[in-house]
Amino acid sequence: MKLLRNISIPVDKTLDIEKEICTKLQLGHQELVSCEIRRKSLDARRRNNLVWQYSALIEVKGEYPSHPDLLEFKEKLPYIEIDQKLNDKQPVIIGAGPAGLFAALALADKGFCPIIFDQGDTIIEREASIRNFWQKGILDTQSNVQNGEGGAGTFSDGKLTSRNQDFYTHKVLEYLVQFGASPDILINAHPHLGTDKLKLIVTAIREYLVDKGCEFHWKHKLEDITVENGGVRDITINGEKYSPEIVILAPGNAARELFRMLANKIPLQSKPFAVGFRIEHEQEFINYLFYGDKTNIDITGAAEYRIKAAIGNKSVFSFCMCPGGIVVNAASEKNGLVTNGMSWSKRKGKYANSAIVTPIDEKTFGSEPLAGMQYQEMIEKKCFKLTSSYLAPVQRAIDFIYKPKNKMPVPTTFLPGTITTDLNKIYESGITRTIGEALKYWNKRYKGFATKGVLIAPETRTSSPVRILRQPNMQSEGAENLYVIGEGAGYAGGIISSAAEGLKLVARFEY
Ligand SMILES: Cc1cc2nc3c(=O)[nH]c(=O)nc-3n(C[C@H](O)[C@H](O)[C@H](O)COP(=O)(O)OP(=O)(O)OC[C@H]3O[C@@H](n4cnc5c(N)ncnc54)[C@H](O)[C@@H]3O)c2cc1C
Repeated sequence: MKLLRNISIPVDKTLDIEKEICTKLQLGHQELVSCEIRRKSLDARRRNNLVWQYSALIEVKGEYPSHPDLLEFKEKLPYIEIDQKLNDKQPVIIGAGPAGLFAALALADKGFCPIIFDQGDTIIEREASIRNFWQKGILDTQSNVQNGEGGAGTFSDGKLTSRNQDFYTHKVLEYLVQFGASPDILINAHPHLGTDKLKLIVTAIREYLVDKGCEFHWKHKLEDITVENGGVRDITINGEKYSPEIVILAPGNAARELFRMLANKIPLQSKPFAVGFRIEHEQEFINYLFYGDKTNIDITGAAEYRIKAAIGNKSVFSFCMCPGGIVVNAASEKNGLVTNGMSWSKRKGKYANSAIVTPIDEKTFGSEPLAGMQYQEMIEKKCFKLTSSYLAPVQRAIDFIYKPKNKMPVPTTFLPGTITTDLNKIYESGITRTIGEALKYWNKRYKGFATKGVLIAPETRTSSPVRILRQPNMQSEGAENLYVIGEGAGYAGGIISSAAEGLKLVARFEY
């Protein structure tokens, strides 16, 4: 078998993959023994001329023709070996986000029965608290968009992309298909699930794990750990002490109280991340801007974009774009504001949003381990203060650049609502100027991007501001039976890479 890349088919043409392969390789129809599509992506570089790009595994009769797009195919293989025997069948996992849940899945499939604690609630209960927050502004700090069953990924767009792709990231996708996702996610270059599907899949995973003897404890918060002689002696959850053989910590990037508690016990480091705003447009405008007015969106799906700009020695880029989605109020702390994006599987909503952010590091926030986290907190509180409520400060992107005093109300999807404010007041002038210059550049390059866009503040939780230092085998540098994984540990970003960390960790264990 060989892999044939760059099989290009205009989006409005009916797919006959065998015919396309034969034409590309100048093969007779009988010479192609088999073909299997392995990847499908959308090439949208030319508006109104969008093209599907396929890669397929093919087998031919006799010798393979010579073609620069025909490559040897190597299956992605596991590369982590078992190096630790556990005696206790019930390892403890803190956090039921993608990292914790997939660690639990891998453990259950090896015969373990992990006990999972999460400070948040089940999806159903969580939905009720989120509704209460978005409709009435009453925040539950333990169970919200960031915390609870499925973690921060549950009420999301469910984009399933990851920078590194290996055996373990593919295995995560296979698990998602096992629990209800469409097999298309195994080949799509930009797979996504949407929050409606995610909720069903996460619930199915939980039910499977419970069937296998795993325990879930909701509204159970890890409050303390005792580290003695280079290991965790005990942990305190809701005031009760436990002494497990190992603890798998998968807390996500919103776990500020936990980071504060850990700072005196094990080595932590601050880590660069990116800050800025959410920008929202009408999806129809984004379709026109990036795909053109002649593209059939029913075939391609709502338009996505990924843009960047170099401003002096700084960069500004779009991140976590949600076609047909809404901007969500993702606060998890009292008197702080946080934005993020969410969508449903069909991505049919009227609006599109993305984060527009620029990277910052210790030059902005200092070098103390928790300095980045404190900076995030300071910005989130400042935004809350600007409106004296959980209403987000917003401003038309064009006014942010040219008429900061313009207080004209603007429509957005953000709940419980917004107040038009001068967003230049939020970040240091360097950050504000850099983002403003990028918006000016994009407004020319993608005509109307700033004129028709609304900025919503702030975007602060792009990745973890903290790294929990660990060995290559994911053991904390300060406690040998403490394993730290996922986005909160500071080594992963997004649903897939966080979930893959859970699988990689457990690949080392046997019972
Ligand atoms: C609204 C939104 C949209 C997003 N959209 C996408 C997207 O489309 N695609 C994508 O790849 N990523 C997206 N992300 C990011 C993604 O959700 C995270 O990268 C991912 O969930 C990280 O997984 P994790 O398991 O490491 O941590 P988390 O998902 O954050 O889970 C950590 C869990 O640990 C629990 N916890 C924390 N501290 C404690 C404690 N002391 N005791 C007990 N439990 C604790 C929390 O309650 C939480 O449930 C989005 C995030 C948000 C908020």
